[in-house]
Amino acid sequence: MTDTDNISEIRRSVQALCAEFPGAYWREKDSARAYPAEFVDALTKAGFLAALIPESYGGSGLKLDDAAVIMEEIQAAGCNGASAHAQMYIMNTLLIYGSEEQKQAYLPRIATGELRLQAFGVSEPTSGTDTLSLRTVAVRDGDEYVINGQKIWTSRAEYSDLMMLLARTTPREDVASKTEGLSIFLVDMRKVVGPKSEAGGGMTIKPIRTMMNHSTTEVFFDDMRIPASALIGEEGKGFRYILSGMNAERILIAAECIGDAKWFIKKATDYASERNVFGRAIGQNQGVQFPIARCYAQMCAAELMVHHAAQVFDAGGNPGAEANMAKLLASEASWAAADMCVQTHGGFGFAEEYDVERKFREARLYTVAPISTNLILSYLAEHVLGLPRSY
Ligand SMILES: Cc1cc2nc3c(=O)[nH]c(=O)nc-3n(C[C@H](O)[C@H](O)[C@H](O)COP(=O)(O)OP(=O)(O)OC[C@H]3O[C@@H](n4cnc5c(N)ncnc54)[C@H](O)[C@@H]3O)c2cc1C
Repeated sequence: MTDTDNISEIRRSVQALCAEFPGAYWREKDSARAYPAEFVDALTKAGFLAALIPESYGGSGLKLDDAAVIMEEIQAAGCNGASAHAQMYIMNTLLIYGSEEQKQAYLPRIATGELRLQAFGVSEPTSGTDTLSLRTVAVRDGDEYVINGQKIWTSRAEYSDLMMLLARTTPREDVASKTEGLSIFLVDMRKVVGPKSEAGGGMTIKPIRTMMNHSTTEVFFDDMRIPASALIGEEGKGFRYILSGMNAERILIAAECIGDAKWFIKKATDYASERNVFGRAIGQNQGVQFPIARCYAQMCAAELMVHHAAQVFDAGGNPGAEANMAKLLASEASWAAADMCVQTHGGFGFAEEYDVERKFREARLYTVAPISTNLILSYLAEHVLGLPRSY
């Protein structure tokens, strides 16, 4: 793909920042399962996490296609954007559906880094992918909402000041369509974290240790009271509001997968050129070359779909199909490249100091989250191709 001058400049700036955070930094964080706070601070100070905030609210007002390049370069440099990526895509719901008062209250402070918007509370343990069956409830009580329930996989909750939370405000049996009756809240976590007490509280966060360093958690709500002003848009319309944010999320994560695939392909190419066995570089064998070349072709095709989806989004269209296809193709391209990279490295693919095994573990997530491959295929089959519905 040919970059515009603006995109080339974004790439160079992100590359320069990421060069300060080499493999050793990520290995240390990975083995301690520690949050890469220094990296996230550096991204924030450089303004990258405020890329999608309009200039009038203190951000840089970039397009989603530009933001996608930021995330791609982070991954292509061997860094892990999962520590901060949610700030970009959660923002979208606030930007489109938040009131002017909410935008004024939060966006400028998110842009400066004073407030972190990193937590997205959608998934629940019992409902799984069936989001419309979620059980967390928010009940209006005067000028407050009282929230009870549980979320799972709420990543970065321990390192965020704000959480975008999806909860049911009208019981499912009382709404005409199952997509109604859910509402979105922007919760100021600083006021509610801790056990329920006279003074407030009611939000408990429990970390979940995973195969990669992802700072994910379970969050419990016990009569948690939040002001009614935390509601975004109209009560009951929250599911529709988050769909647009989910398209942005899928496109940005697809861009991360492209960055990962580029990292694996470069790493494998370099190693195959340097490693000598049987008196010649292993990359001279077509059995080693061809898998690398195949991954390159797969990555390039997926990359085109990622930018196409971002451009449909930026033009104000509904990129439901394109965002899903971008995520499907890019996550498969990065996972194929991850597997190829391990194979190319032979035994050294398993040694921590090469970073291949760490990136392999990190890349595995994206055919499962934020939406799994099956659910994307089901969307394409039923909503795009018109096949009979399976659920
Ligand atoms: C590390 C990590 C971080 C995450 N971060 C967040 C976060 O910050 N916020 C958040 O809200 N969520 C987050 N998630 C949740 C993530 O979005 C879900 O795990 C993902 O959408 C899959 O849902 P599930 O785990 O409930 O799987 P399930 O819904 O239980 O599905 C399990 C398997 O069955 C398949 N399946 C289910 N139903 C069907 C069907 N009808 N047809 C075909 N196949 C089907 C799925 O494809 C999947 O492979 C995170 C998850 C992980 C692991």
